[in-house]
Amino acid sequence: MRLILIGAPGSGKGTQAAALADHFGVPHISSGELLRRHVAAGTALGREVARYVEQGELAPDHLVTAVVAEALAGAKRGYVLEGFPRAVSQAREAEARYGAGFADTVVFLEVPDGVTRQRLARRMSGGRSDDRDPEIIERRLRRFHAETEPLVDYYRDRGLLVEVDGAQRPPVVTRAILTALADTAQP
Ligand code: ADP
Repeated sequence: MRLILIGAPGSGKGTQAAALADHFGVPHISSGELLRRHVAAGTALGREVARYVEQGELAPDHLVTAVVAEALAGAKRGYVLEGFPRAVSQAREAEARYGAGFADTVVFLEVPDGVTRQRLARRMSGGRSDDRDPEIIERRLRRFHAETEPLVDYYRDRGLLVEVDGAQRPPVVTRAILTALADTAQP
């Protein structure tokens, strides 16, 4: 099972990816989490991406691709991947590198901006500095609409897209994704 989750910040990608990875018994890979770990550990790559991650800007493609490639190399039996690709340039890069085997299905978690803003405001007390600053939250939402949302058409055109209402309670969303995946598996 190779599953990609796409959604705005606050759409529940991380929560759903964890539940689905558990369900399918494959690793949950989060580009954001991998980058934050490099930043926290102060690696050379971490120092290069820190300002992007902290300011809610997209980190340079080649750095993100390197970090994700390393994680995918260790996931021979499949994965649930979220946060990558985050732009059409990254999807093309993944297609060139891995071919069609990169993704069986791409799940788009649809959530209105009003809902993601509320969720991120609630998460503000958590540890992530990019969740604490309203200006940075707005920048991430703008980046999502400008850079990431075009992936919805990109993967729809390739017949890989499944759209799920992400504004429901987390277990309801998980069930909706599993139902949609079962439907796409029908001949
Ligand atoms: P969210 O979706 O809530 O913004 P993530 O954990 O997915 O949270 O990402 C956090 C930050 O990490 C992003 O704002 C960006 O700076 C960086 N990042 C994560 N994935 C990518 C990617 N594929 N390309 C570029 N930057 C990325």
